[in-house]
Amino acid sequence: GLSAESYRRRHEISVTGDNVPPPFTSFESTGFPSEILREVHNAGFPAPTPIQAQSWPIALQSKDIVAIAKTGSGKTLGYLLPGFIHLKRCRNDPKLGPTVLVLSPTRELATQIQDEAVKFGQSSRLSCTCLYGGAPKGPQLRDIDRGSDIVVATPGRLNDILEMRRISLHQVSYLVLDEADRMLDMGFEPQIRKIVKEVPPRRQTLMYTATWPKEVRKIAADLLVNPVQVNIGNVD
Ligand code: ADP
Ligand code: MG
Repeated sequence: GLSAESYRRRHEISVTGDNVPPPFTSFESTGFPSEILREVHNAGFPAPTPIQAQSWPIALQSKDIVAIAKTGSGKTLGYLLPGFIHLKRCRNDPKLGPTVLVLSPTRELATQIQDEAVKFGQSSRLSCTCLYGGAPKGPQLRDIDRGSDIVVATPGRLNDILEMRRISLHQVSYLVLDEADRMLDMGFEPQIRKIVKEVPPRRQTLMYTATWPKEVRKIAADLLVNPVQVNIGNVD
């Protein structure tokens, strides 16, 4: 409708895809459960950021998404909060493996995502494990064995642990490729492809990237099914 169009124009949102739902312009309009809304209010956020406003309704329809938006635009909660809702719907046993898998290029970024998942997921009683290189595997393997709903991982370390057969991805049905352009720049494409082979094809896949070069388009075309594309601002 008109208000969706004017919100998109005002916030430089462009969308490509079939029947793209209107943005959630307030937290109240998301219909998120109260324990999630409580965390958002505790954080003192006045309103969803444009990428959140537009990608939440799409993600809640279980559609694949490519979201192109610059750093600092709130992409983490853009995929985490719908991931929480997805987890509630699935009600999988975390002991059998994660349901939500987030791939991130670096230890630092993966840790930040885990912090956000813990902070906003605590009242939903969600568990999260972080896997990254440059640290001993032992504690990370113990975390996996304890079970967690969400795994945030760098592709290198997750691939090592997969080759050791110490984690199962057979329950993953919500896969996020965060900072996809950076992961490819760092040479992680082979590891990403091996990891994705272990994830069942019946899944929702979300890709977040700051830029949209042809390498990223190619992997998006290979891994996502009929995605809705959301651009914020002037990204090439
Ligand atoms: P990106 O992944 O796009 O670089 P982040 O997800 O790291 O961005 O978010 C950047 C900062 O904005 C974080 O400190 C985060 O807590 C904050 N933030 C997220 N959502 C909102 C919001 N709706 N309103 C205000 N700040 C927000
Ligand atoms: Mg980010």
